[in-house]
Amino acid sequence: MNELKEHYTKLVQQYRQIFVSVLNAIQGEINLLKHDEIENYLNVEIEKHIKLQKKLVIERRNSFHCGMCGACCRLAISEFSPTALLEKASRGDKFAQEFISTFTPYEDEKEPEKQFPLYMQLLKESGEHAYYYYCKKVTDDNKCSDYENRPSICKDYPDNPIQLLHPTCSYIGWHESIQKIVLTIRAMTEIREHFRKEFEKGNI
Ligand code: SF4
Ligand code: SF4
Repeated sequence: MNELKEHYTKLVQQYRQIFVSVLNAIQGEINLLKHDEIENYLNVEIEKHIKLQKKLVIERRNSFHCGMCGACCRLAISEFSPTALLEKASRGDKFAQEFISTFTPYEDEKEPEKQFPLYMQLLKESGEHAYYYYCKKVTDDNKCSDYENRPSICKDYPDNPIQLLHPTCSYIGWHESIQKIVLTIRAMTEIREHFRKEFEKGNI
């Protein structure tokens, strides 16, 4: 079994356990509430809890710092092709505008595969189709040659708690430390949607 499959199998098992425990907790709370209190619980109380957990995820990120390996400058990944990004940028999408003005598409996958064999292998094993880009401003010693003017997408990286990070990224510890919280947020969101629908149908 390869490394990524093993990771995902463990993740799925952990998610199942968390899902069941969150489901039991929410169901238990609902059982104690009067009918006219349930809507407030689903829309206000659970939302407050989710926001608190999201805040914790961001706060934990602040305990980690960039190790300046340069990997995210030399290999940026997008689910969108250069053409799709240009279209999005022309429609006013700020992220696409910044991305396309920062990163240049690799001509093919040979160069990123040469530079990042393990990461490229993990990305491919994940099954997600992706497009690969690089920034021309990164120096040979992994510094940003235009640091003061770097865009927000660089300042905020990594801001996605579920993105597959480069194996050399010093934020991997952040991902590991928030895994349980992220899975809990996801479970709460899914379960709340289920109960909202049941409430609307008059089943609870
Ligand atoms: S602008 Fe600077 S920080 Fe951003 S990707 Fe390029 S080299 Fe890296
Ligand atoms: S991959 Fe992580 S450690 Fe490396 S330069 Fe980017 S943010 Fe910093």
